Amino acid sequence: MKRAIVVGSGAGGATVAKELQGRFQVTVLEAGGAFRPCALPLPAVEGIRKTGLLFDEREMSLVFPALQIRKTPEMVLVNGRGLGGTTTICTGNALRMDQDLRALGIDLDAEFQEVYAEIPVTTVHQRRWRKPTRRLFEVCRELALDPQPTPKMGDYTRCVGCGRCVLGCPHGAKWDSRQFLHVAQERGAQVIANCRAERVVMEDGRATGVIARRGLSRRFYPADLVVLAAGGFATPVILQNSGIPCEPRLFVDPVLCVGIEYEGAAQQREIEMPFVMQRPHYMLSPYFDYVSFLFNPAWRRPARDILALMIKLADSPAGAVLPQEIAKPLTDVDKRRLGEAVEECQEILRRFSGQPVQPFLGTINAGHPGGALPLTEQEAQSFHHRRLPGNLYVADATLLPQALGNPPILTIIALAKRVSRLCAQMAA
Ligand SMILES: Cc1cc2nc3c(=O)[nH]c(=O)nc-3n(C[C@H](O)[C@H](O)[C@H](O)COP(=O)(O)OP(=O)(O)OC[C@H]3O[C@@H](n4cnc5c(N)ncnc54)[C@H](O)[C@@H]3O)c2cc1C
Ligand code: SF4
Repeated sequence: MKRAIVVGSGAGGATVAKELQGRFQVTVLEAGGAFRPCALPLPAVEGIRKTGLLFDEREMSLVFPALQIRKTPEMVLVNGRGLGGTTTICTGNALRMDQDLRALGIDLDAEFQEVYAEIPVTTVHQRRWRKPTRRLFEVCRELALDPQPTPKMGDYTRCVGCGRCVLGCPHGAKWDSRQFLHVAQERGAQVIANCRAERVVMEDGRATGVIARRGLSRRFYPADLVVLAAGGFATPVILQNSGIPCEPRLFVDPVLCVGIEYEGAAQQREIEMPFVMQRPHYMLSPYFDYVSFLFNPAWRRPARDILALMIKLADSPAGAVLPQEIAKPLTDVDKRRLGEAVEECQEILRRFSGQPVQPFLGTINAGHPGGALPLTEQEAQSFHHRRLPGNLYVADATLLPQALGNPPILTIIALAKRVSRLCAQMAA
């Protein structure tokens, strides 16, 4: 059987591994290790915060290695590292967001049908919402913002509303891509953890394999097919290391939270992002923002008394993954839209509390990177960029043409399914 190397085990990589194993002998190279939810209880973290030892967001990776944190002058960049990729630290939101792809002539109906057959999606968590969330939902409805309970992926009958979604669900309620990875392994795929792909080796216009580092050793993994799914920050690095330039079109969906002090809000014990409101260039959702709570001086208040709304902006594709850093400036348009969204949040929070409020802003953080080798009309059928050799594909958020300002996992999975289908034709 022909050999396929899949790089990364997140939304895209685990999907491709599951779909291709059996047609190819699949080996998944994953830079991180096994995922474990963060075990630190919030009161302990609040205690550490009081000591003043928390001053740099990158410290979070020390206690929670599944979290990779980088910083630009304007924001904190977050992604997951390890088996399951960023899906393990997601909030479980499951939205179909393929409008921009459809505009390119890409019809993913069949793939989404499969996705919904394989991943349970539900709003059953609504039954567990606490009083402040219910009231906030009503206020947003009165303001004609059309709030909708967020569809979540997984078995939410197991959800206890502990509010630790982004720290890894300790109750097994959330779906993450380790479930697809597990299926791939049961079918015979090999998964090599703690193995960082550096570059794709090419000879005579074809990919012959991947050079990857594991501990101190570096090895060549031969392949007939290579699929890169190391995520929106890492896939461009591997491509560029392999001599394939990417586009300076990186987007990240910046998140800015607007908080107020509200006694007994207890948002830290509510499911993250229980409902969403779609706005023209961003979405709004209630959210307990750990990054700001731990590191932003304006958020030095008891967790139980903070009530916050998240703005998730569909930012301009104006960033770049460079050899040594990630450049991700906010454009004037981005800043203006964020400003408008902040005003909207302030109005919601004013209505909610029924009195003048003193809102505080969070640290801008972002965790939906993509767009560095985007699909265009030219690749609408092939899903294969002309810069790549015929047997090298990309199957992650790198392919997305625009920022979604919305949860991308389901859409990435649908894309990865299409890539797998196209690659399967090479198996014969
Ligand atoms: C806090 C947070 C919450 C989120 N919540 C949601 C949500 O509720 N719903 C939603 O749809 N989206 C959510 N997202 C976004 C979503 O998780 C990501 O957009 C999605 O997982 C990206 O899929 P991917 O396949 O592109 O990359 P990833 O899932 O990030 O997977 C990439 C994988 O590649 C590995 N890797 C990296 N470099 C290498 C290398 N050199 N060699 C080998 N392996 C490598 C990584 O360790 C990782 O396992 C959230 C993101 C964050 C940060
Ligand atoms: S609120 Fe708690 S139990 Fe529910 S999905 Fe999130 S982490 Fe899991």
